[in-house]
Amino acid sequence: MGGPVVVVGAGPAGATAAMRLHRAGLPVVLLDRAHFPRDKICGDLLPPRTFPLLRQAGFQPSWDPQLQRSALLARGSVVFDRLARQRPQAWRSTESGRLSLTPIAEALPRRLFDALLVDQLRQHDLPVREGWQLTQLRPDTGGGWCLSGRRPDPSGACRGWELQASWVLAADGAGSRVRQQMLGSHHRDDLAVGVRVMAEPAKGSQPSELIYPQPHSLLYRWSFQLGEQRNLGLFRPLATADAAAPPAAHLARQWFGRSGVAWACPLLPPPERLVGSPAPGVLLLGDAASLIDPLLGHGIDHAAESGLLAANCVLHSASVAEGSLAYDSQLKALFVPRWQQLQALIRRQLS
Ligand SMILES: Cc1cc2nc3c(=O)[nH]c(=O)nc-3n(C[C@H](O)[C@H](O)[C@H](O)COP(=O)(O)OP(=O)(O)OC[C@H]3O[C@@H](n4cnc5c(N)ncnc54)[C@H](O)[C@@H]3O)c2cc1C
Repeated sequence: MGGPVVVVGAGPAGATAAMRLHRAGLPVVLLDRAHFPRDKICGDLLPPRTFPLLRQAGFQPSWDPQLQRSALLARGSVVFDRLARQRPQAWRSTESGRLSLTPIAEALPRRLFDALLVDQLRQHDLPVREGWQLTQLRPDTGGGWCLSGRRPDPSGACRGWELQASWVLAADGAGSRVRQQMLGSHHRDDLAVGVRVMAEPAKGSQPSELIYPQPHSLLYRWSFQLGEQRNLGLFRPLATADAAAPPAAHLARQWFGRSGVAWACPLLPPPERLVGSPAPGVLLLGDAASLIDPLLGHGIDHAAESGLLAANCVLHSASVAEGSLAYDSQLKALFVPRWQQLQALIRRQLS
């Protein structure tokens, strides 16, 4: 079995894995259907845990001077009182009776942040194949994988491509083609609707806020300061019982009075549906493995964490089968206890 490690998707999960593997001397091909800089529907808030993970993979903190800082407050639902009691070191009450997280939020538009990561990969001579879209993945005869897809050429016509790989690290986001091909579509209960609108800020400086407007619902809104603009959004988990979920475009109009970008996004799935490796040599990372926190909506840190873990399993295993099993079990060991803790909190909140 031969071929490089092919990483599909150059968001935070794929970029982290590719950097770690490349710096350890493994041949890596990183491809993305988009050209960078590209936007991504997101609250643009970077969880503090993300930074040490990126440094461990080999990134330099070139984003530091550009981080936009503001106070982060939460208000609304009692769920935060419970969170605050469970993790008092992270949450503090403010004079206004709201809860303050950490207490400073650091934000950077994803358009900028993801492009900074890709730039650093290029500076380390890792070629990023932009505009390469994966359409198919199949086992090859030598025990590895064959990936194929399309890319537009300068005339606008589409050309096909094919690559052999010893490993496939699928970091191709919420609508992961690899995941769909190997496991089918996401379970509806594992999905949420996300809506994002960019707006002019109100006069004067304002904190960034997470707002839980309905007492017995996990629906939340955010309003984050982002330079000259505010990033307004809504996150609404779906459930099987929730057959009549309104279309996301309607939600943008209903909550923000304007049109916005809407997305169906995966949530941290129940333990039995969390899959790290659907086949030997294929690892699912970040949103492709559904690692978004259902309560606070963050996933950039989980993406980087799974990218680092996947790269380490590739580097430190004696065989593809051993590395795939190691990744699957270590991912579950990391995320299942967190998921169970959140599930218990959510159940109490909704009861
Ligand atoms: C509404 C909303 C708000 C959020 N807010 C926050 C927040 O404030 N903070 C936070 O930490 N997290 C937030 N998240 C979660 C966060 O955006 C994701 O968890 C994170 O982007 C996951 O990173 P990733 O690398 O796995 O995937 P992505 O960042 O989605 O990257 C996937 C990459 O794969 C590429 N790709 C996709 N398909 C193919 C293909 N077939 N072939 C080749 N390339 C492909 C895409 O172009 C993309 O570049 C939010 C999510 C949503 C939906």
